[in-house]
Amino acid sequence: MREQVFWGWGEPGAGPLLPAHADVFLRDLGLPGGIVETPVALADVRLRAPELPAAARAGLEAAVGAGHLLDDAETRVLRCRGKSYLDLLAQRAGDCEAAPDAVVRPADHDQVAAVLRVCAEHGVAVVPFGGGTSVVGGLEAPREGFGGVVSLDLGRMDGLESVDERSLTAVFAPGVRLPEAERALGERGLRLAHVPQSFEWATVGGCVATRSAGQSSTGHGRIDENVVALRCATPAGELATLGAPGTAAGPSLRELVVGSEGALGVITRVALRVRPVASGSRHEGWFTRSFADGADALRRLEQEGLAPDVARLSDETETRIGIALAGPGGAGRRAGMAATRALGYGEGCLLVLGWEGDEKAIGARRRPAAALLRKAGLLYAGKGPGEGWARQRFAGPYLRDDLLDRGALVETLETATSWTGLEPLRDAVARALTGALGHAVVGCHVSHLYPTGASLYFTVLAARDRDDPAGQWQRAKRAAGEAIVAAGATITHHHAVGRDHMPWLEAEHGALGLELLRAAKERCDPAGVMNPGVLVGR
Ligand SMILES: Cc1cc2nc3c(=O)[nH]c(=O)nc-3n(C[C@H](O)[C@H](O)[C@H](O)COP(=O)(O)OP(=O)(O)OC[C@H]3O[C@@H](n4cnc5c(N)ncnc54)[C@H](O)[C@@H]3O)c2cc1C
Repeated sequence: MREQVFWGWGEPGAGPLLPAHADVFLRDLGLPGGIVETPVALADVRLRAPELPAAARAGLEAAVGAGHLLDDAETRVLRCRGKSYLDLLAQRAGDCEAAPDAVVRPADHDQVAAVLRVCAEHGVAVVPFGGGTSVVGGLEAPREGFGGVVSLDLGRMDGLESVDERSLTAVFAPGVRLPEAERALGERGLRLAHVPQSFEWATVGGCVATRSAGQSSTGHGRIDENVVALRCATPAGELATLGAPGTAAGPSLRELVVGSEGALGVITRVALRVRPVASGSRHEGWFTRSFADGADALRRLEQEGLAPDVARLSDETETRIGIALAGPGGAGRRAGMAATRALGYGEGCLLVLGWEGDEKAIGARRRPAAALLRKAGLLYAGKGPGEGWARQRFAGPYLRDDLLDRGALVETLETATSWTGLEPLRDAVARALTGALGHAVVGCHVSHLYPTGASLYFTVLAARDRDDPAGQWQRAKRAAGEAIVAAGATITHHHAVGRDHMPWLEAEHGALGLELLRAAKERCDPAGVMNPGVLVGR
């Protein structure tokens, strides 16, 4: 079983480290430079003794087999919460009082259903656990009012169950991690092409349960656009949908389960659209004089049917952060930036584009796109910046651990709106964040294009308030959330609702909309034990 470190990202020593030159950038933020704090050792973590009632424990052991109910400290600490900044602050400090009493590891749908029955009967909260990469508080259930908390780890349900090569669909068990899913499909010349930055750890079921978007979702669609059918075990019974490619049989129940974050039940099987393995890819960089010019060029690419598979436009600040924190490849990027300044592109914004396919097909798609970009005044920067991005596309979360060691506040948030609303939304959110944090660096990029609008993804860096680090971020997040709903944008484009986005959900769905979701929960989960607190509150 692969496991991450309990206080950060990935396996020990797996990722890149911050380059030495990053300290210059960090000192500008008011940080002293160098390591100021390290995570506690596992032995020093604060953890309550497991408190599961004996009858519930016996029922769960009967459901999954005694060897698959675990309550050792390490297993519980690893299932305590997800990987947001607030999660990591708590884990690094060894605050694991909220850890589940036990972790159960069912082998199949029937065992999942049996676990849910036992939990409902004994009033034990149950939290589905896929890859554990939630960044919205999706995995930390409150224990008040419950006879205990159980983490339902889907790690044993990790197979590629079947492939229909003619229809280009594949059926997965929910706990298969994305790299393993791609490996299994690759053996048949197929792929999912779903690559969130959490790719190394996120599971198929977790992605479906949170409506995730990958780095090439502009070309291949978000995960929700690729779900063909699913099966979900709820405490009230099974909810399963057909795999028909289109239907007029009323509102989509598939859509009710996609994005339900474990509040209704556990997704135990997913059929997804797949596509042939790409024989090649091309990543390249372009510079634009301003974010507004770049965003408008992306709008035109998308609306004229010329968008590539990957399209990421960084604003001036994010372009600068990328250079400050980049590893060895950064020297090339720094030289590139000097050249763009000389050509009159000022500080410039970096646009990375990526196409997947064979050389001929890429050429045919790229030519008209490049012509449009040149006409719009963008400057071609060669393959270097694109290949650099592709090489470092999974580095960010490892560098975050280093930044935390150096005393930084480092977090991201995301939203989406119409093309018309994009620029005002970016300004409003950046203003809200800097207003709340004072001296902070707020970078932003566009990374998912739609005919009617695009997503915005913000990265925030500041010196951490050592006395009240959680409160410092909560105030900033509240200000950003209020700016987002005031602008009529979505509170989350792909991270999901979890517990962290609950305060803004009514602004998104309206009071009646939320009542409808609650009614669905009450019907599927009458005892209210399914991941209490996410999506519809308690
Ligand atoms: C460094 C980092 C980068 C990220 N990058 C991206 C990105 O590029 N795009 C993106 O969309 N997201 C991203 N995320 C967010 C996160 O990876 C996604 O939300 C992902 O979909 C979660 O998958 P998981 O398997 O880790 O699920 P978990 O974190 O284990 O679970 C997420 C939620 O879904 C529920 N759940 C999990 N499995 C099931 C199931 N089978 N049935 C019912 N409920 C279930 C859980 O209870 C929880 O509420 C990132 C997170 C991190 C930490």
